[in-house]
This record gives sequence, structure tokens and C-alpha cells, in this order.
Amino acid sequence: MLLELDHISKIYGDLHAVDDLSLTVPAGQWLAVVGSSGSGKTTLMNIIGCMDSPSKGSVTLEGRELNDLNATQLADVRKNVIGLVFQKFYLVPHLTAVENVMVAQYYHSVVDEKEALEALDHVGLKDRAKHLPSELSGGEQQRVCIARALINHPKLILADEPTGNLDEKNEKIVLDLFRELHEQGTTIIVVTHDALVASCAQREIMLNHGVLVGEQWDDEKAREAYEAAGGKPASTGAQVEGAQQGDAPISFANPTKAAKVQG
Ligand code: ADP
Ligand code: MG
Repeated sequence: MLLELDHISKIYGDLHAVDDLSLTVPAGQWLAVVGSSGSGKTTLMNIIGCMDSPSKGSVTLEGRELNDLNATQLADVRKNVIGLVFQKFYLVPHLTAVENVMVAQYYHSVVDEKEALEALDHVGLKDRAKHLPSELSGGEQQRVCIARALINHPKLILADEPTGNLDEKNEKIVLDLFRELHEQGTTIIVVTHDALVASCAQREIMLNHGVLVGEQWDDEKAREAYEAAGGKPASTGAQVEGAQQGDAPISFANPTKAAKVQG
């Protein structure tokens, strides 16, 4: 397993932003995390991305328990293992597209314009390399972000609402890129409100008020391989606050609405 979450919780005062979640993700899996606003998706991604630590429980990435790592080692994991894509683009406004990609290289202590241009070419933006973010459409800006996330060839891509600000055409371009990365063996965890974006993944989990409330496989072969390798369903020991026995099961076809109705 690339990633193992063992009974993790993130607690702010009385609020359980993530509540007793156990989840294993094998290398190469494409997982979607769905749920309404405030259900704990970003908190979970920040924990997996070594940007936050759980209040309880443990996170193991590539066999190393993150609790045991010091700040430098965590920074190395962020640099070498993980690529991040956010809903907001976080591009430096006065740097061109290629320079924005090179900022990520700088962070990885190699600056190579040729490689940065190749990354832009990969996302179909070679001819926009010298444009400033303000001269790019939202979809193009998000593709610069993906090029930036790919620069260190991460094993794990964490994408938080990557298509949240995009029109249908650009959403498709981004999904096609994810599909290609998945085919190349990259592990992808994508947070989304959108049932269509979620259904492109092999497996989906749903959060509601920080609690795991559902799991669904969209790729039967992947499920069989996962189970054959000893993979277990995602699980929780927690209960959604206010949930009643006999509540209607949550629908992955409309995660946001379902979660709101139930929550
Ligand atoms: P989502 O990404 O699903 O919209 P979040 O993970 O951002 O949800 O937030 C989950 C819950 O945790 C929300 O109720 C949010 O207000 C709360 N929360 C997130 N970060 C903090 C924080 N730093 N301090 C207090 N509460 C927080
Ligand atoms: Mg969020």
C-alpha cells in the first residue's frame, strides 16, 4: 500500500473535521473523495499531503509513519513523493507560465527551462509559455498548475477540487490528463463535488461531517485486485451526528445533495 490511514481524526475543539477514518490506498489507484462543503475533504488532503497532522491516529506513506519524521524529512516527502493541485491556482502573477513551473523546480533545487517547457508541452501549453497568468484562461492556468505539480514526477497526486473553477471543456482536458497519469501508474486522490469527475476514478469514498459514510467502486477489476492484495474497505468507528438508523443510503450520483439532505 502506498498510503495507510489508521483511525485518523482531526479535532478542533468540539468539532471533528475528520472522524476516525481508516483507509488504505495502493500504488496506482485513482481515488475520489466526495462530500458536501465542510465535510472534511480538504482537512483530509492536507493530512495526506504532510501539510497538517492528525490529532489522533497514524498516517503511513511508502511504509514510513509520518509521525516519526522530523520537519526536514516531511519537507522531503512533500518535495519528492507528492504533487499538489488546488482549486485556486496559486500562480505567481508577475511570472510567466514557464517561470511559474520553474518556481517548483527551484523548490526541488533544479532549474531547467527545457524541462519546464516539456512539462508545459505535456499539458498542451508550450505556445503559452511566455504568457502571464492574467493572459491565460482559467483552464490554462489550471494546466500550468498541473505542469508544476508534475515537475518532480510525483508518485502521488493530490488534487483538491481541481476542476471546481473550470468550464466543461477545460474540465475534460484536466480529466484526460489525470487519465493519462493514471495509465502511467501515478496514484491520484482527487477531492470533488462533482459526481461526473468522481466517477472517472476507480473508487470513491464519501465524507459527511468528517465521517466516512460510503464507499463505491467504479472499476470492478481494480476492486478485485485490491482485495486480492489484502486491501480492506475504508472504515470508521464514528457516527454522523444526527444520523438516524434507517436513513436513506447516500447516493454517489449526487454526493453534494445527498450529503446535505442527510447532514
Ligand atoms: P471541505 O474541504 O470538505 O469543505 P474542510 O476540511 O475544509 O471541509 O473543513 C471541515 C470542517 O473543519 C469545517 O467545519 C471547517 O470549518 C473545519 N475546519 C477546517 N480547518 C479548521 C481550522 N484550522 N480550525 C477550525 N476549524 C477548521
Ligand atoms: Mg475543501
